[in-house]
Amino acid sequence: MNAVLQTDQSLVLIVDDEPFIRTQLRLSLQCEGYRIAEAQDGREALTVFEKLHPDIVLLDAIMPDMDGFDCCTQLQSLDCGKYTPILMITGLEDRESVDRAFEVGAIDYVTKPIHWPVLRQRVRRLIQQSQLQQQLESANRELQRLVTIDELTQVANRRRFEEYCAQEWQRMAREQLPLSLILCDVDFFKSYNDTYGHQAGDRCLQEIAKAIKNTVKRPADLVARYGGEEFAVILPTTNPEGAIVLAETICSAVKILEIPHCNSLVSSYVTITAGVSTEIPEPNSDFQAMITAADRALYQAKTEGRDRVKHYNKQSSSTIPIYPFLP
Ligand code: GH3
Ligand code: MG
Ligand code: MG
Repeated sequence: MNAVLQTDQSLVLIVDDEPFIRTQLRLSLQCEGYRIAEAQDGREALTVFEKLHPDIVLLDAIMPDMDGFDCCTQLQSLDCGKYTPILMITGLEDRESVDRAFEVGAIDYVTKPIHWPVLRQRVRRLIQQSQLQQQLESANRELQRLVTIDELTQVANRRRFEEYCAQEWQRMAREQLPLSLILCDVDFFKSYNDTYGHQAGDRCLQEIAKAIKNTVKRPADLVARYGGEEFAVILPTTNPEGAIVLAETICSAVKILEIPHCNSLVSSYVTITAGVSTEIPEPNSDFQAMITAADRALYQAKTEGRDRVKHYNKQSSSTIPIYPFLP
C-alpha cells in the first residue's frame, strides 16, 4: 500500500461557545495550513459536520444547551462520522471530564488553558492516523473484492461459489427449504476461440456473464464463474419449476445477444446448455450431491444436442428434458 498522507489543507471543525477561544484556535491552526470551520454549540456542530465532513473536530466539553459529550455521541452515530477523530477540550485537572470524554468516544483530549505545541502535534497525528485507517480499510475492501470476484467477468469466482453454496446449504437445511443450482456451459466454445480468437472469446464470456447477471433478480441468488466457460447460479428457496424457468430465461438471454458463431453446430449464434438440480438439504449432509446432479443433467443435455435445459430428477435418478420441447 502506498500511503499518501496529506494533513495540510485538512479541514478542522472548531466547536466552542467562547468566541475568543475559537479565534485563538483558528489563528493557531491556520498558521499550520489547515482550513477552518467553526460552530458555537453542539447543535450547530452537527449541522456543520454533516455539511462539510471535516477531517477532525476540536470539541469543547462544557457548552450550554448540548454539551461536548452529547455532541460527541451524536457525531459518532452519523454515517459520515465513523472515521473522524474528535479531540475534546476539557478543563484543567478535570479527571471526570477526561474520563467522560473517552467514554463517549473522543479519541484524545487537550486541557485548557491550551498548550499550543501539544495541540499542534495532536491534531497532526490524529488526522494522519485517521487517514491511514481509511486507506487500510479501503485496501481491505479491495482485497476482499479481489478474492471473491472473477477478474474477467466480474461475477463471483469459484472460491466464493463454494463458500456461498455451503452457507446456503446449511441455511436451507435448517429451514427445510429447496435449494436449486443451475450449471451453464457455453456450446462449442473451443471452436469459437479457434474461429474468432481468444480475446473475442474473453469478450464473449464477459457478455454472457452480464446477461446471466441481468436475468437473476433476487438478492439471495448468486451468479458465479464455475470454470473456464462454465457459470453457476445458486438459487436459495427455489423449487424445480422456478429454477427451470430461470434456466430457460438465461438460455434465451444469451441467445438474443446474437453473438455470431459460424462454427456452432446448433445455431448461428452463441448458445449455452444448462443443467439444473434441486435439493431440500438433509441436516449434516454435503452440497456436493447437488453439484454432481446438476453436472449430470448438463452432460445429458449436451449429449442430447446442446442449447437446452435439463433438470436432474432424483426419484427416477434420471434427467428430464425441458427445453427445447422434443417431439
Ligand atoms: P461443448 O459444447 O461440449 O461445451 O464444447 P466446448 O468446445 O465448449 O467445450 P471444451 O471443454 O472442449 O472447450 C472449452 C473451451 O473454453 C476451451 C477453452 O480454451 C475455452 N476457455 C476456457 N476458459 C476460457 C477463457 O477464460 N477465455 C477464453 N477465451 N476461452 C476459454
Ligand atoms: Mg466446459
Ligand atoms: Mg462448452
